[in-house]
Amino acid sequence: MTQSQWRYPLSDVSFDEREAQAVVDVIRSGWLSMGPRTAEFETRLAEYLGVRYALATSNCTTALHLAILAAGVGPGDEVIVPSLTFVATANAILYGGGAPVFADIESLERPLTSAADIARKMTPRTSCVVVVHYAGYPCDMEAILALARERRIAVVEDAAHAIGSRYRGKACGTVGAVGCYSFFGNKNLAAGEGGAVVTDDARLFDHMKTRRSHGMTTLTWDRFKGHSFSYDVLALVYNYRMPELTAAVATAQLAKLDSLNARRSEVARAYLGELAGVDGLVVPFAREPAPGAVHVMPVLLPPGVERAGFMERLKAEGIQSSIHYPPVHRFSHYRSLTLGPAGREPSLPLTEEYARRVVTLPLHPKMTAEDARDIADVVKRSLG
Ligand SMILES: *Cc1c(COP(=O)(O)O)cnc(C)c1O
Repeated sequence: MTQSQWRYPLSDVSFDEREAQAVVDVIRSGWLSMGPRTAEFETRLAEYLGVRYALATSNCTTALHLAILAAGVGPGDEVIVPSLTFVATANAILYGGGAPVFADIESLERPLTSAADIARKMTPRTSCVVVVHYAGYPCDMEAILALARERRIAVVEDAAHAIGSRYRGKACGTVGAVGCYSFFGNKNLAAGEGGAVVTDDARLFDHMKTRRSHGMTTLTWDRFKGHSFSYDVLALVYNYRMPELTAAVATAQLAKLDSLNARRSEVARAYLGELAGVDGLVVPFAREPAPGAVHVMPVLLPPGVERAGFMERLKAEGIQSSIHYPPVHRFSHYRSLTLGPAGREPSLPLTEEYARRVVTLPLHPKMTAEDARDIADVVKRSLG
């Protein structure tokens, strides 16, 4: 992620000798995929989150696919999901044979999956709800879980932004039926690739566990340990395993996660202090309590400011910026699908406005509050 042409890259990792040593240890051990390091990472992750079961996966997209399958989604089912998310959240629904039905966000200030819009978009065919704790801030889980409970359907949490965030004392990702995390190189816990699913439900756990590795009933590691000689295959699935190298890096990062998140939160606080109240600028979450983990730093430009030009002015000062996110329902592939009842264009007025105006500013654990103030100054100058 380190890009030397940027004075302030959008994202960066914070590695030291501990990650390096973890990788060397795996190489020396000679066991490279889903063995003792992966098992140790799963145990530590479950402990950290306060959840019964954790399964490491190849990435968060595959974690979401396992979650969608475990939630019982199948052909003909509708799954409600926000459009303001990374495309993988919706793709996982399509992989499972379901049809994504897009829900709007609550407001420009709280761009989180809206319970009210979920309620409006539910139909008799709705079989699951996927929420995204965007930027690390928890959705209104009480209202969303109440809607799901009425219909006896599962809520899957895409907690790719929210590892270390809490909702009423519980870790984000452990509030609904299944939570999914990403350990991609720009995420709060960075291992290059990798993901995890977590649940308190033994039945869902068993379902996801067999589907993570070819639908097989035993693992290569079990057979190496002499626990079994053969296996059965229960379902046609894929290989979503985590390599040991990834698990070792992820375990080293998990041990530092709270301090990495504290640094991100400090930087976010400095941004909010500088930018909240700037004329015409909307700064999402400015009035929310700090959630514990902040993943990205979005601001919405005043309606008259042309975004590409603004991003060019930041670039000229060595500041990388981005857009989280181009909305999923606008992508060509999604436009070509017949989504929802009668294939109508989804009504997502807040998501549309948000996506038109949003710019994300650099945020990573190597930054300081001073860096954020420096960038905020350029932002203010670049608005005019
Ligand atoms: C990063 C991300 C994903 C996908 O994660 P991968 O590990 O890259 O597959 C899914 N959802 C959200 C919200 C993300 O930010």
